Amino acid sequence: MNHKNEGRKMPFTSVGSGNVQLVADKVHCYTNQIVNVCYVGDKKEWVLVDAGMPGSASKIKAEAEQLFGEGAKPKAIILTHGHFDHVGSVVELVEEWGVPVYAHPLEVPYLTGETRYNEPDPSVSGGMVAKLSAFFPNRPVDLSGHIHKLPHDGTIPFMPGWQWIHTPGHTPGHISAFRFTDKTLIAGDAFTTVKQEDMLEVVQQKLEIHGPPRYFTPDWEAAEVSVKKLVHLKPLHGVTGHGVPVSGDKLLDGLTYLADHFKEIAVPNHGRYVEGEK
Ligand SMILES: [Zn+2]
Ligand SMILES: [Zn+2]
Repeated sequence: MNHKNEGRKMPFTSVGSGNVQLVADKVHCYTNQIVNVCYVGDKKEWVLVDAGMPGSASKIKAEAEQLFGEGAKPKAIILTHGHFDHVGSVVELVEEWGVPVYAHPLEVPYLTGETRYNEPDPSVSGGMVAKLSAFFPNRPVDLSGHIHKLPHDGTIPFMPGWQWIHTPGHTPGHISAFRFTDKTLIAGDAFTTVKQEDMLEVVQQKLEIHGPPRYFTPDWEAAEVSVKKLVHLKPLHGVTGHGVPVSGDKLLDGLTYLADHFKEIAVPNHGRYVEGEK
């Protein structure tokens, strides 16, 4: 493994940074600078969903110990997708914990260094974060020997009762996780609850349901289908990769509105990845 990101801390933050919130039964959300990671499970068996920003391994471990006790170690790390803000500390964490990492088969090549994502598109509308995205690291992590494909039957290892849902568009192998018993959704970047392109809104973590982060989304048609798929699940509790956790009507109404008006709300008017300009 290589490409350690320790020492490459990025100067982003938000009002939620450092908070751990209980989203639903056995689902804790920790806001790491501008991105959320989830701790799912209990002391006996838990997993980490996504691995935060570069240079955050010690913070992610410290929060885990707060929740589950000293020396707490997950059974696995599950990745919604492989963007830098979701895998920023995965290499350090895997080295420390020695646990397997699971991702969708289509995402695996991006996690072994075989393929890299398209460059982020800083030309999309919407403020500072979109502009800064030109400087986001795009170099793939290499998890060879640690990365495993999620099982075909939709189950998620060490997350009993959960199913992974393929929600491509933002990336080819993007997944969301859903627990049918209480309709809890971990959506990754399939949609967001903050306008992620806008620095002020990211800092204040203003609640709104938005499409996936624009600067990184290459396939808007697939992204729309994915949001519709999630609406059909009628989620009650939701946590996204960016923004605050949302529950109840706010979540379902917001998500339904997003699905019904996807082209107006989510898809940028111009940019590298619209109008067949891929
Ligand atoms: Zn992403
Ligand atoms: Zn993200």
